[in-house]
Amino acid sequence: MKRRSALRPMFFAYIPEAIEEGVLYISFENRTVVHKCCCGCGNEVVTPLDPTQWKLIYDGRVSLEPSIGSWNLACRSHYWIQENAVLWAEQWTDARIAAARTAQRQHTVQHYASAPSRQVASGMPAASPPKSLWERLSAWLAR
Ligand SMILES: [Zn+2]
Repeated sequence: MKRRSALRPMFFAYIPEAIEEGVLYISFENRTVVHKCCCGCGNEVVTPLDPTQWKLIYDGRVSLEPSIGSWNLACRSHYWIQENAVLWAEQWTDARIAAARTAQRQHTVQHYASAPSRQVASGMPAASPPKSLWERLSAWLAR
C-alpha cells in the first residue's frame, strides 16, 4: 500500500455516503471532516470539529490539529494534515496511546466543566464564526 502525501480538500453541506481516496471531505454543517486513511488501507477516518477534538485551519489550504492517530485501525497510522499535505508521524506504542486517551478524557472533562464561565468572561455575542467562514468559503468557491 502506498502512503499518500497530500489530500484535496472539498467542502460539502453533508458528507457523501461513498467517499474517495485522496479527498478531505469537510462539512461545517455537521462540523465533521472525513477522509480515507492516508496509508491506503481504505478505512474511513472521522475527525469531528469541536473544541475538545479537532480544529480546522483554512487559508486556502487546510490544516487539522492535533495529529490524526488511527489507533483503532489495524494500520495504526499517525500523521498530521498541514496545508493539504500529509506529514507522517511515528506510530505510538500501546503505553503512549493509553496515556493520550487518558489526557484526552481529562481535557474533555475540563473543557465542559469550564465552558459556562468561559462564555460569560469572553462576553462574545452569538455571532457565529463558522457561518461567516462558510459564507467566505461559498464566495470563494463561487469564483
Ligand atoms: Zn490505514
